[in-house]
Amino acid sequence: MTGDLAQRIVKIRQQLPESVRLIAVTKQVSVDAMREAYAAGVRDFGESRTPEAELKQAELQDLPDITWHLIGHLQSNKARKALELFQWIHSVDSLKLAQRLNQLANELSLSPQVCLQVKILPDPNKYGWSVPELLADLPALNQCYNLQIQGLMTIPPFALKPPEIRSVFESTSELADKIGQQNWLNIQMQQLSMGMSDDYPLAVEAGATMVRLGRIIFGQRNP
Ligand SMILES: *Cc1c(COP(=O)(O)O)cnc(C)c1O
Repeated sequence: MTGDLAQRIVKIRQQLPESVRLIAVTKQVSVDAMREAYAAGVRDFGESRTPEAELKQAELQDLPDITWHLIGHLQSNKARKALELFQWIHSVDSLKLAQRLNQLANELSLSPQVCLQVKILPDPNKYGWSVPELLADLPALNQCYNLQIQGLMTIPPFALKPPEIRSVFESTSELADKIGQQNWLNIQMQQLSMGMSDDYPLAVEAGATMVRLGRIIFGQRNP
């Protein structure tokens, strides 16, 4: 799958409402393919790991107007590096990590945009807050003044059927509305980062504002 990469991007873009941000997920994708995506108009790239992102950013320095999104779990010891590399962190998945990022952002004079990763259904394979845990942590998150908390991110558990996936996305959207209505000073709920190659149409129908697409653009990754 190369060559028609640009066509695939154009086609996906046409299917998406204009307000939905397309994030091209480029873990394990070559910088050459990333350049092709850039040439086709992509300006938002999502990476799962800071070391890989750092190498790629060094190689793509001549493309100045890229927004970099971290979408994978962030270990505390990589938090500083992540703040240097990424303008968006979708995968803030615990209060401890949020507070660490907040402290480092203060030191670095940065104010990163972040999403809070939530698990609507129990999922031992994923990081993130359960709904009750997240609601309980909101007062402390509201004190993270150096973070621009923009909304929620979710990944449905593996192997759900479409109606169940749809329900996860709808619940995430309803949760964002509920939190938004609480009028926190420092917590915005305008963004919903949800939807991957296999399920993004469902996510968009449920109100996603950012979709994170890898395989449908770049082809299958190595297992
Ligand atoms: C890999 C990944 C994606 C992209 O998945 P595809 O199925 O390749 O579209 C999206 N979000 C996260 C968090 C990922 O790790």
